[in-house]
Amino acid sequence: MKTDNYLEEHSRDLNRRSAMKILTMGSAAGLFGLLGSNSARASGLLTGEIKGPGSSVHFNKSLPPLKIKAVKAIGTAPEGSNLVIVKVETSEPGLYGIGCATFTQRAEAVVAAINGYMSDFCVGRDADNIEDMWQAFFVSSYWRNGPVLNNALSGLDQALWDIKGKRANMPVYQLLGGKARFAVDTYAHADGKTPEEVAEQVQKYMDQEFRYIRIQQGGYGSLYLARQPDFKDAGFGRPTDEFMDQVAYVQAVPKLFREVRKRCGEEIDLLHDTHERVQPVDMINMCKRLEEFNPYFIEDPVSPENMGWFKQLRESTTVPFAMGELFNNPNEFVGAISNHYLDYIRCHISQVGGITPAMKIARLGEFFNVKTAWHGPGDVSPVGHAANCHIDLAIWNFGVQESVFFSDKIREVFPGTPELKKGYFYVNEAPGLGVDIDEKLAAKYPITNDAGKWTLRKRDGTIIRP
Ligand code: MG
Repeated sequence: MKTDNYLEEHSRDLNRRSAMKILTMGSAAGLFGLLGSNSARASGLLTGEIKGPGSSVHFNKSLPPLKIKAVKAIGTAPEGSNLVIVKVETSEPGLYGIGCATFTQRAEAVVAAINGYMSDFCVGRDADNIEDMWQAFFVSSYWRNGPVLNNALSGLDQALWDIKGKRANMPVYQLLGGKARFAVDTYAHADGKTPEEVAEQVQKYMDQEFRYIRIQQGGYGSLYLARQPDFKDAGFGRPTDEFMDQVAYVQAVPKLFREVRKRCGEEIDLLHDTHERVQPVDMINMCKRLEEFNPYFIEDPVSPENMGWFKQLRESTTVPFAMGELFNNPNEFVGAISNHYLDYIRCHISQVGGITPAMKIARLGEFFNVKTAWHGPGDVSPVGHAANCHIDLAIWNFGVQESVFFSDKIREVFPGTPELKKGYFYVNEAPGLGVDIDEKLAAKYPITNDAGKWTLRKRDGTIIRP
């Protein structure tokens, strides 16, 4: 007889044909035991029962409806960098999720988008249908999302994955397919004023058992090497504007690699970030000089506006490339990956809209042997780092993860923050993303409207795209 409930109907069929067979399978019985457990019932799951001769197992029949009751932004800056979190509360008392919506340079704009638009859009909708929610919000303002709305969407998306994990009583990586590796291999940051200082830093991290280290001499673009900031003498721009000499920089990078290789050997994998700010032909020439030092990858070799140069860049040098930190729409990765321009997907997960689009980009990469290297500095919240790590654990084509040393202050605000041990990130095994936020403590560190960080100029004052 037909019933309205698919699972109920199939469970009767199951009962007739194979209940005893399932009862003999330890793992299946264990799973059913979990779903029929007190914790599952407490989170609102309905349970049923399959009866076999002399025994029975409980099973999950269906999830009760779960509606979004409230959505709000939480801004906090425990270490000075603006972090933005989305908290989604549901119709199930005590069941909520949090996600990272951090666009640190325009944090207050993201907070306004969440509290002013996203909240109204979400309340009353179904919390279970993550894909539907993502697609709906992505086009809900008609004009496609830019970084402000995409980061807001990421906070919502990650919070819904967090809720789904809590409902399933599983860490998010399990929902994504389970572990493809035991932990997440990361890289550390070595920086110094001279190649010798950088080499000392590299050795320090090698002693801490890191296997990958990014090397920079005096930060991005080695600004301290620049001489004659004529625009400042002429009173052009603002006194705090920064000055970069591209020639000095591209000459310094091969010398940096040479010195670090000489002092630290061939075993360690070395990375470098050019931060999109060098002219494409100069980048080609610099990368050809780096080939003998076997870099793991060169990050963001051109600005997003110069992607048309990538074919020539790719054909001119064997240096591997990571690209995409500034990409905003997930579609920007399609041509770059399918043309084999990239070796590593360099992506700020909240910038593209969260776990849902990041998984699609990662899976696309798998088919083209392109690996991942998610953006993970201090201005990604611990919730965002956890999202990075859950994906890193589950996908096959993981490359390397940028790491950060979290302070005790950050760990107090965000209980459950991923742990770094011997260069590996570990997420905790709590259901969902595994990270929470202490809202009272977070409120002690308000975000600021610090909007002027990226004004970089040439000698004559021309703006350099950073
Ligand atoms: Mg970068």
